Amino acid sequence: MKLVPAEGGGWMVMTNTANRSAQHVVVATGAWSGQLLEPLGIHVPLESERGYHAMLFDPETMPALPISNKTRAFGVTPMEDGLRVAGTVEIAGLDAPPNEERAKILVQHARRMFPGLSGAKVRYWMGLRPSTPDSLPILGAAPGRPGLHFAFGHGHFGMTGGPPSGRLVARMIAGERTGLDAALYSAQRFR
Ligand SMILES: Cc1cc2nc3c(=O)[nH]c(=O)nc-3n(C[C@H](O)[C@H](O)[C@H](O)COP(=O)(O)OP(=O)(O)OC[C@H]3O[C@@H](n4cnc5c(N)ncnc54)[C@H](O)[C@@H]3O)c2cc1C
Repeated sequence: MKLVPAEGGGWMVMTNTANRSAQHVVVATGAWSGQLLEPLGIHVPLESERGYHAMLFDPETMPALPISNKTRAFGVTPMEDGLRVAGTVEIAGLDAPPNEERAKILVQHARRMFPGLSGAKVRYWMGLRPSTPDSLPILGAAPGRPGLHFAFGHGHFGMTGGPPSGRLVARMIAGERTGLDAALYSAQRFR
């Protein structure tokens, strides 16, 4: 995908399948947002904090509630499909292959917490947390680029923080009052 300023204002979003023009475009491509903006000469300090989970199917133990284990920095969540054990932070960029050993360590943590757990049937996953130096997202208008807006950088809390951020940025574009301290979330704060 490529972003190109459109003639007469607005932006062209070019993809493999189609091109679309719009007066306002919101960049909300998570950890890949920096990569998307670089060709426009826009540099945002974004790092992918890679995390892992192990999904344990048919677990021998199932807690009734999610538990956050602060001693070993991981969480266990009872889910319909099984028990999910998640955590870890790996700084290895966008393209490095997943390191399954990290997810295996999560299973070891869970087995220490629940000694009856075998971890026999397991599936591993790796995801990217789009993180900023101050752990706050970058929201709102791109400085000096009319019609371009940002909504990324939610780090560890994008599943919960992303939807309200989407609403806030939509209200900013519509010119509505948000009550947000825009400077706190602007990309300009890193200059
Ligand atoms: C192990 C782990 C546990 C987590 N636990 C929690 C939690 O408990 N609570 C919580 O709130 N958050 C949690 N998070 C963080 C959360 O997952 C992220 O903050 C969130 O996914 C970021 O949302 P996003 O929409 O900005 O980015 P993403 O979810 O990464 O979505 C970005 C999308 O943009 C697409 N994209 C990127 N580049 C392009 C392109 N060039 N063209 C087209 N599409 C593109 C990607 O394919 C992707 O679909 C966790 C993350 C991890 C890794």
